[in-house]
Amino acid sequence: MKTIAAPRAVREEIDRAKRGGATVGFVPTMGALHEGHASLVRLARARTGFVAASIFVNPKQFGAGEDLARYPRSLDRDAELLASLGVDLLFAPGERDLYSPRDRTRVFVEGLSNVLCGAARPGHFDGVVLVVAKLLNIVRPDEAYFGQKDAQQAVIVQRMAADLDIPVRIVIGATVREADGLAMSSRNAYLDADARRRASALYGAIAEAKRRVEAGERSAAPLAATMERRLLEAGFGVDYAAIVDGETLRPVEEIRGTVLIACAGALAGTRLIDNVALRVDGGAVEEVLLAFPEWSRYG
Ligand code: AMP
Repeated sequence: MKTIAAPRAVREEIDRAKRGGATVGFVPTMGALHEGHASLVRLARARTGFVAASIFVNPKQFGAGEDLARYPRSLDRDAELLASLGVDLLFAPGERDLYSPRDRTRVFVEGLSNVLCGAARPGHFDGVVLVVAKLLNIVRPDEAYFGQKDAQQAVIVQRMAADLDIPVRIVIGATVREADGLAMSSRNAYLDADARRRASALYGAIAEAKRRVEAGERSAAPLAATMERRLLEAGFGVDYAAIVDGETLRPVEEIRGTVLIACAGALAGTRLIDNVALRVDGGAVEEVLLAFPEWSRYG
């Protein structure tokens, strides 16, 4: 595995791989890697001939007062893991490799960026889509992999790639969880033993809502209210406990079609998010990934 910081050098490596006939898969991350990231790398490894991953803690997606300074960083360990998973190229830029004080361009995905986590974290998704657009332009992969864990990000990135005609197939990977259901996250490292125990209530609340949908409940309001109560009981400060349309991310009253059951809140100062997406067709309920290949000419 080669580790490269400079965008031009990344392009040269990718061009060489493409000239050799390989399809290119790309897994962007912020490092502090865990099994959730590894699952995306394995997906890439299984589907494409040349696998690139990136590690960049993107300052533009952190708000003032958020955890940019203390975000866990473990580049050497991460690089070892990626190499062991068969990654061919690690793109690990510094801030000045990607951003310049002369930058003026912003990318904004209207309607999807200001709801849910975007309401609690103003500007967060503007930072996300800017860096993802840049990374996709540098790496120019055939496929890029994002986790269902960050469902809103997954939807926004698919919308952005389609709207900007970026010729990439976005592939969504399932959420990888700990034994008690807690979604793996680099931020779980912030939790002390007590908070870690209580954190399982997040997936517990979502899983309970899912079971009630499977049992026939089709009204969103009582499900959202129960989820919020469960989170409060566990000591969360609740940002939202919501049931929204899977494509528009707007709240739904009646549960049908593709819906996203999503919660976010802070536990002992650590912000955690989780979700489950369901496709509901009459009495049939199926857990799905929020992948919309039909949005893109290149999907
Ligand atoms: P991050 O390093 O947090 O920016 O995440 C990098 C990628 O890994 C994103 O596409 C995330 O959605 C994905 N990811 C993070 N946690 C998980 C998880 N528990 N399961 C699956 N994918 C994940």
